Amino acid sequence: MRWALGRMPQEVKAVAANPQGLGMRKNRDLPAIPDATRPEDVAELRKAIAAFNQHTERLQNAYDVLQLRIAEINRELELKNQALEEANRNLQSKIAEVERLRADLDNVIESMGSGLLAVDTEGICFTFNAASEQALGRDRTEVLGRHCSDIMGKAASVLAPLMLDGDRHDHVEMCIPHKSGRDVFVKGAVSPLFDRMHCRIGSTFIFSDLTSQRLLEERARRGDRMTALGELAAGVAHEMRNPLTTIRGYLQILPSMKDSPEFLQEFSENVIREIDRLANLTDDMLDMAKPISSDLEWCDLGDLSEEVLQFLADRFSQTGIEYEIRRDPQGSPVRIDRSRLKQVFINLLINAIEALGPSGGKVQIALSRSEERLARDEEVRPFAVCRIRDTGPGIPQKDIDRLFDPFFTTKPHGTGLGLAVSNKIVEEHRGFLRVESEEGTGTEFSLFLPMGERDPEHPEGQSGPEIHRRE
Ligand code: ADP
Ligand code: MG
Repeated sequence: MRWALGRMPQEVKAVAANPQGLGMRKNRDLPAIPDATRPEDVAELRKAIAAFNQHTERLQNAYDVLQLRIAEINRELELKNQALEEANRNLQSKIAEVERLRADLDNVIESMGSGLLAVDTEGICFTFNAASEQALGRDRTEVLGRHCSDIMGKAASVLAPLMLDGDRHDHVEMCIPHKSGRDVFVKGAVSPLFDRMHCRIGSTFIFSDLTSQRLLEERARRGDRMTALGELAAGVAHEMRNPLTTIRGYLQILPSMKDSPEFLQEFSENVIREIDRLANLTDDMLDMAKPISSDLEWCDLGDLSEEVLQFLADRFSQTGIEYEIRRDPQGSPVRIDRSRLKQVFINLLINAIEALGPSGGKVQIALSRSEERLARDEEVRPFAVCRIRDTGPGIPQKDIDRLFDPFFTTKPHGTGLGLAVSNKIVEEHRGFLRVESEEGTGTEFSLFLPMGERDPEHPEGQSGPEIHRRE
C-alpha cells in the first residue's frame, strides 16, 4: 500500500502561489473611487486591504512551510514503502523456503524405506508414510485422524502404551496385522516428538518390515539344518565304512585261515578293536542327539573340575603331565546337568592330555567370573568361567574355525566328535566355549556358564539358567 498526501485544490493553490495577487489586483484594478467618497472611508478601506494583504502573506508563508513538510513526509513515506516492499519480498522468499523445506521433508518421509507412524499426545495418528502403507496394507486416508490402537489390532495393547507414555523405547518387536489379516513382523523404535519449545507433541514409531527377512532366515535355518544333517550323515557313513571294511576283510579270509592260531589271535584283536570303534562312534552320536536333563542341579564348577581331575588322575600320572587348579575364592555356582557337563570337562582335559602327548607338559585350570553379553541387544550377565590351558603344540589358524565341526579330527583314531558334543552340551546350558591358541605355545579352552544368583548350599527358590533346547 502506498501513502501520499493529497494535493491542494487548484484555486487555493493559485491564491497561495500569489497571495498578493488579490490585493494587487485590487490596488491596480479597483474601480476609481468616486470623488464623492469620503476620505475617512477610503482610509478605512485601504487599512482593510493592507491587513488583508498581511494575512495573505502569512498564509502563503504557512502554506510554503506546509508544502515543504508534505514533501518531506512524502519522501519518508516513499522510503517506508521501499522498506515495506523489501520486507515483503524477504517474507515471500522465506515462505517459499519454508515450503521448499517442508516439501523436502515430506519427500524424505515418503521415500524412507522404514515405516513412520506419528501420533499426537492423545494417540491420534497424523503421519503415516508410504512405507507404512505398503507394510500394513492400509491407505493413509483410513489411518490419519484415527486412534493408533484402531489400526494395530492385537498389537495395540503393546504398542499403544509405548506411544503414549512419552518415553523412548528401542528394540520394539511385534506382529501387527496387515489389512488382509496376515501378520507383519515389525521391528523398530518409539521416540517422543517435541516442538520448538521442547513441549512433547506426540510420539513416532519408526519400523522395518522384517517379515520376508524372517521367512528367508527360517528357510536358511532349515537349509542349514538339512546341510548339517547331510554332513553328519556323510561323516557317520565315512567313519563306519573303515571299521566295517576291516571287519569284512578279516571275515573274508577267515574260512581259509581258521586253522592258524596267529591269524585267529590277530582276527579277534582287530575285529574287537574295530567293533569298539563303532561302539564309540555310536555312543558319541547318541550323546550328540541326547538333550540335557530338564532336572538341573546346583553345583560349584570348582568342585566339578576337581572331581574330573580326580577321575583322570591315572592318565595324568601315566603321561607325567602336571596339572594345577586355581579356584575362584567367591565360588562358581552354576545350575547344570552334572553328568553331561562332566563329560565336557573330560573331553577338554583328554584333548589337552592328547595334545601334550608323551613329551608331557602342563595343564592349568583357572576358575573366575566375568560379565558377558551374548547378543548386541542383550543385557550383560554374570558367567562362571573355567579356563583349561595346556602347553601343547597349539592349533594352526586354518583349523580353528573347524574345531567344533562334527568329525573334524587330526588324530589317526579320533572321532572328531568330542568338541562338537561338548559345544552342544554347553550351548544347551545357555553358555558358550571359546578357544585361543598359539602354535608352539599352547591352547586355552574357556567354558562360560551363566552363574546362579545364590549360594548352591541353599538351593530353595534359586533362579538359574533356563534350559535352551534345540527343537
Ligand atoms: P578328537 O579328539 O576325536 O580329534 P575333538 O572334537 O575332541 O575330536 O577335537 C577335534 C580336534 O581339535 C582334534 O583332533 C585336535 O586337532 C584339535 N584339538 C582339540 N583340543 C586341542 C588342544 N588342547 N590342543 C591342540 N589341538 C586340539
Ligand atoms: Mg577329543
